[in-house]
Amino acid sequence: MADISTDILIIGTGPAGSSTAALLSSSGVANMVVNRYRWLANTPRAHITNQRTMEVLRDLGPEVEAEAYMHAAPQELMGENVFCESLAGEEIGRMKSWGTHPLSKAEHLMSSPTQMNDLPQTFMEPLLFKTACMRGTQARMSTEYLHHVQDAEGVTTTCLDRLTGKEVTIRSKFLVGADGGNSLVAAQEDLPFEGKMGVGGSMNILFRADLSKYVAHRPSVLYWVMQPGADVGGIGMGLVRMVRPWNEWLIVWGYDIAQPAPQVDAAMATEVARQLVGDPNLEIELISANTWTVNNMYATHLQKDRVFIMGDAAHRHPPSNGLGSNTSIQDAFNLAWKLAAVIKGQATPKLLDSYSVERAPIARQIVTRANQSIGEFGPIFGALGMTGGTDVEKIKASMDARCDATPEAERQRAAIREAIAFKKYEFDAHGVEMNQRYASGAVVTDGQVEPAFQLDAELHYQPTTWPGARLPHVWVFDHQGSRKTSTLDLCGHGRFTLLTGIGGEAWVAAAEALGKEMGMSITAHLIGPRRKITDHTGDWARASEISDSGCLLIRPDHHVAWRAADMTANPAADLRRALRAILGH
Ligand SMILES: Cc1cc2nc3c(=O)[nH]c(=O)nc-3n(C[C@H](O)[C@H](O)[C@H](O)COP(=O)(O)OP(=O)(O)OC[C@H]3O[C@@H](n4cnc5c(N)ncnc54)[C@H](O)[C@@H]3O)c2cc1C
Repeated sequence: MADISTDILIIGTGPAGSSTAALLSSSGVANMVVNRYRWLANTPRAHITNQRTMEVLRDLGPEVEAEAYMHAAPQELMGENVFCESLAGEEIGRMKSWGTHPLSKAEHLMSSPTQMNDLPQTFMEPLLFKTACMRGTQARMSTEYLHHVQDAEGVTTTCLDRLTGKEVTIRSKFLVGADGGNSLVAAQEDLPFEGKMGVGGSMNILFRADLSKYVAHRPSVLYWVMQPGADVGGIGMGLVRMVRPWNEWLIVWGYDIAQPAPQVDAAMATEVARQLVGDPNLEIELISANTWTVNNMYATHLQKDRVFIMGDAAHRHPPSNGLGSNTSIQDAFNLAWKLAAVIKGQATPKLLDSYSVERAPIARQIVTRANQSIGEFGPIFGALGMTGGTDVEKIKASMDARCDATPEAERQRAAIREAIAFKKYEFDAHGVEMNQRYASGAVVTDGQVEPAFQLDAELHYQPTTWPGARLPHVWVFDHQGSRKTSTLDLCGHGRFTLLTGIGGEAWVAAAEALGKEMGMSITAHLIGPRRKITDHTGDWARASEISDSGCLLIRPDHHVAWRAADMTANPAADLRRALRAILGH
């Protein structure tokens, strides 16, 4: 007999674990989360928070979304991505990033009701964790996961209570390993991985110093510094990252992974900070310093029966593209509603198989993208003659040469320009963030073919209601046209939603009857003139890709589960077939 029992046990209170707990508690599912430490993230690792993640926070409630914006640096301060000799030294170039280029900004505005922002992990984690605990999550800190065994009915997990030194056993129906890049849960289940850990050496130096005079006129979260040694290890180049504008900073600097990790003491941290800022007299208030390694590894399967992994436990990669915490929270959004549906008896455990099928390809994609982004600094170094050495004189000569009135210098300037612009695949990859489409048993396409991407799928989000894609966002209105709502706001909150138009009344009736039959509530919205929700702009008619009498069935995670282009001969039977298949019946 275990000491404690719960429905879902989650190991880890990082972005993955805390968001899973918050989503489960919001759905009324009993869950417990454990963390080996006494508190949450103590360094501001993740920060770039993309629109898809903000949609998850918005789904958790307006107060959660509002609190995130309150603590975040806004998008307007994020985008003058600078490449320079040092903050005080010569600027080599810059690119508008994170949706701040006017063209990109338009795409962001049209894609989501939310805004990208810079929210350090030290704010994101407490927000998610607090939301979880306020809504019912049982949290046990200073509790270290040791091992688990699973059987046909559940999982028994043994943890160490680090305050008493005693072991405690927890019985749950399912176990979620959100225990980070060295996941013991993944190791215990021997889940399959591809790739390699420790492909580069990196150090973080977190400090306070007022650097406004170097940066306030070119606000950005990232300042890339090209100095001798900047291409060794690390994340592609020396980085001075804004944590709080403009007096708290995180430097990321590389070291040769073939050598032992350096001891980053106060003297070394100050030296590196002075060098990258370009001020030999800079005084810093050092907060912390540590070394870490760049990983290039992803799980190819995220589940073993009643045990799941998510977040960094499943995808281990450098911070390039800012995808780690974002993808972790999005993993949670995918799994939480499925666990809730199974716990509530609405779905069979077969539904859970779709988690790995849907999220393992994303793990592979983002790990590959992030590592590729490191390599894509190469052409900038190349254009400046900085590859393969730390010959300061050679670098200086190359920097000088680019200013000449010669054809070679013009070619060099063009090469620098192009190499910097190409970094949009790291700093403005809206498609990577928003284009996730699923193909699994939890989606019914009825043979409809996936629409091909018209533009570069890594750079541009392409909305579609093809089953498996995220529901497109457009603004719709109440019938007076005075209050606008995102189509995403009509959906989610742990429930399936049906969207239809005038002539689709039979779908609404079918959804109501089916909900009763299956013991779940299906929200239904009929959009059209003189209805509760109207489409004054016609944006919904253009985005929905169905006729007024057709319907879209939307999963709780905003992904289209099934669609009918028009009214069918037997809407109740068709909707029933689709929903039952999705729920694994
Ligand atoms: C410098 C830097 C910058 C970054 N920038 C970004 C960014 O801009 N955007 C972004 O999205 N991501 C970024 N990341 C990545 C991001 O920090 C991670 O992807 C994210 O923290 C992963 O969340 P997680 O919940 O999966 O794991 P973690 O945050 O690692 O959390 C793991 C949790 O499990 C707990 N745990 C581990 N083992 C045990 C055990 N045995 N028993 C009990 N508890 C255990 C830990 O204490 C912790 O609570 C960055 C990372 C770094 C280093």
